[in-house]
Amino acid sequence: MNWHHLEATEVIEVTGSSPDGLSNEKAQLQLAEYGPNELLVKKKKPAWVLFLHQFKDFMILVLIAAAIIAGIAGDLTDTIIIMVIVLLNAVVGFVQEYRAEKAMEALKKIAAFQAQVLRNGKPVTLPSAELVPGDLVLLEAGNVVPADLRFIETFSLKIDESALTGESVPAEKTEQRMKEVDLSLGDRLNMGFKSTLVTNGRAKGIVIATGMQTEIGLIARMLQEDEAATPLQKRMADFGRKLSYIILFICLLLFGIGLLRGEEPLNMLLISISLAVAAIPEALPALITIALAMGAKRLVKVNALIRKLPAVETLGSVTYICSDKTGTLTQNKMKVVQVHGDEQQSMQLENMSMLEIAMALNHDVKEAEDGTMVGDPTELALVDYFIQQHPAQPLQQVLEHLPRVAELPFDSDRKCMTTVHRFQQQFLVISKGAVESITASLQANTDTTSILNEADQWSSDGIRVIAYAFKIVDVLPEPFTYESVETDLIFAGLAGMIDPPREEAKLAIQECKAAGIHVVMITGDHPATASAIAKQIGILTKNDLVMTGKELKAISTEDFDEQVEKIRVYARVSPEQKLNIVKALQRKNHFVSMTGDGVNDAPSLKASNIGVAMGINGTDVSKEASHMILLDDNFATIVKAVKEGRRIYDNIRKFVKYIMTCNGAEIWTLFLAPLIGLPIPLLPIHILWINLVTDGLPGLALASEKEEADIMSRPPRKTNESLFADGIGYHILWVGLLMAGVTLGIQAWAINHSGSHWQTMVFTVLSLAQLGHVLSIRSDRQYLYKQGLFSNLQLLGAVLLTFVLQLGVIYLPFANKIFKTQPLSLNELLICIGVSAIVFHAVEFEKFIKQRLKKKENKR
Ligand code: ATP
Repeated sequence: MNWHHLEATEVIEVTGSSPDGLSNEKAQLQLAEYGPNELLVKKKKPAWVLFLHQFKDFMILVLIAAAIIAGIAGDLTDTIIIMVIVLLNAVVGFVQEYRAEKAMEALKKIAAFQAQVLRNGKPVTLPSAELVPGDLVLLEAGNVVPADLRFIETFSLKIDESALTGESVPAEKTEQRMKEVDLSLGDRLNMGFKSTLVTNGRAKGIVIATGMQTEIGLIARMLQEDEAATPLQKRMADFGRKLSYIILFICLLLFGIGLLRGEEPLNMLLISISLAVAAIPEALPALITIALAMGAKRLVKVNALIRKLPAVETLGSVTYICSDKTGTLTQNKMKVVQVHGDEQQSMQLENMSMLEIAMALNHDVKEAEDGTMVGDPTELALVDYFIQQHPAQPLQQVLEHLPRVAELPFDSDRKCMTTVHRFQQQFLVISKGAVESITASLQANTDTTSILNEADQWSSDGIRVIAYAFKIVDVLPEPFTYESVETDLIFAGLAGMIDPPREEAKLAIQECKAAGIHVVMITGDHPATASAIAKQIGILTKNDLVMTGKELKAISTEDFDEQVEKIRVYARVSPEQKLNIVKALQRKNHFVSMTGDGVNDAPSLKASNIGVAMGINGTDVSKEASHMILLDDNFATIVKAVKEGRRIYDNIRKFVKYIMTCNGAEIWTLFLAPLIGLPIPLLPIHILWINLVTDGLPGLALASEKEEADIMSRPPRKTNESLFADGIGYHILWVGLLMAGVTLGIQAWAINHSGSHWQTMVFTVLSLAQLGHVLSIRSDRQYLYKQGLFSNLQLLGAVLLTFVLQLGVIYLPFANKIFKTQPLSLNELLICIGVSAIVFHAVEFEKFIKQRLKKKENKR
């Protein structure tokens, strides 16, 4: 259908709609017929495919092959056991991956967009998936177009269609019928297409296609890119690959040495392969995803919605948080506290001053179904003030006297908005905005100095000042633009309002300071207002600088780079300038988080390292460009997210530390034993058991470790810092060797003293040593007795469970058969526990040494 070629009335008729939109009943029928307004995402992998995926690992396949060979050679128990373990491994992997996927899906659902539609003539907000053909959609700057639309009303509407047409300049739209039939998408100026972005103005449009029937659906450019691997995952995968080669080489060597010593080849093969399977950390990248996805889930609970998973990982590295003022650092509960109207100006309308008439007319506040007023808080405050002053004069009545015929919507670059009203045979033009914007548009002979002085005075008390001006004209200028309309105005007065700072912002800013994070306020507001608030909440102190948008424009890049680290408040900046600030900070090697809510904030959000959009007052466009959305628009939430990010990263590091140390210990034990003349210490099944149970269960529980006490009093981590920095590499090496040492020690002792029980003792010592290790590495710095055994119940549970399972393997007769173990005497068991505790104590002692070294360093 050539919708652009039809008249608006015809479109309404063909789609079965009306100027009041659809009725709810009709919409339900349509929904049943056309289905939800969603682009089909790539078919999800069915569960069984996900399960089979667990076997795609090369080493697992080798293990299965080896098990089969063992079976053919007659060792059927080994075959069955190995198969059971492989299966268990797959089940655990599957459950984890499935959970991570579900968590991500849930997050995406929360982030879905809403659309404003008229149903039965009343505006309602719906999830955009519920839109149907015929729905009458209301759009404003900042919205993502929710479906394909034919416009029936537009005001200065501009749409960025680059996602669809590749054209980067936003297209100006109209409601006029297009005369030509054959037009490319980009030329259908009375149409809006799903997933494009409204950058300017307002509009009403009839939905003509939804879901896969839309243009974007047809060309199948779906939002289904795979979740890109996070930097950490990439590094881990890369590291894992290199490590695999080393481990394979060691296993080959082990096999060779075994053969030379006359061991049975099949047995040696199984041992080597089991060791390779156990020691290669193939699951690490997947486990990192789980830790990140679980972190994202926890972050939602503190009102931070993660849109891109790598953000969880990098949050902890933030060194600069650049925040909007209004609503983020302040409560956004504006209240008009003083006004000053120009007495000379009046219009003989009831008993209202010109300023009051302007307040009643120039705004976008709407009355909702339940009679409450909805709109921008600044405007709500002004309208509220008018209502209080004139309780007997309903707003509607003033509007009926002076109906609105045109408007130039507010934008934060111009910092001004204008409405035009019919006034007898003439037009009344009213503008309101920032004082400098309005004074610049006044008649040439106006004394602007006194106006600016008065506004400055109010501002220095933290008051947000809005100026009003007007003019009466016979005809409206053609073309109708702000350059032609917002000139030659007559001053009407000032209105001042306060917006108290958020209490929690103060504390959050203190926390940032302790954590080595700089907080910067960026606002469109007046420098004096901004500085007053910044001082109240502790952003601005004695030696810090304030810079205005004007100064920023004039300064050279070099000079700006030199000063940028001293500036704490940017006032009267336009959203475009935020990009300069981000870039300058990044040139100084800072890791920048930037907040934004408007359409024009999208570039700076994208360019920053963590772009943060506002969930309540943010536009869809800013949300689309962000890495994280604040569901409560609150600054303190960013700080909570940073803290959580630091914790998640810490826990991933602890996890890697644990797994790698354990794997190292297994390799050292098996590799060194023959070199010092001992028999092969463990059977394949022991190795696999340690890998799956002893390493797996407690390791996972490390993800729920609480944050370290100093988490927000140490400087941010460098983003390019290796996962093995801060002594982790050494730890893996020496603790691995120590574990192998005690294990081999007990082997040498037990062969002479316990006879046939020696292998069970070796197996037990290696298992228990790892449990001791995991308890100690819960904290990098704090001793376990200080941290408390019960502060991570999951981990304590996992350790106890693993201990009981290990006892089961030693003492249950059927387990003895399977694992080829022997029940230990009480003495032997106590010896095992005592010897493995050495590892725990040694790692606690490492903390003591670290603290000592740190103290020495601090003294220097
Ligand atoms: P922030 O950037 O921290 O959110 P802000 O709300 O002051 O602060 P903008 O929304 O860009 O930033 O507003 C810039 C200036 O424009 C304000 O200081 C005010 O003077 C003026 N202004 C804000 N809202 C309106 C409005 N609805 N109509 C006219 N002028 C406005």
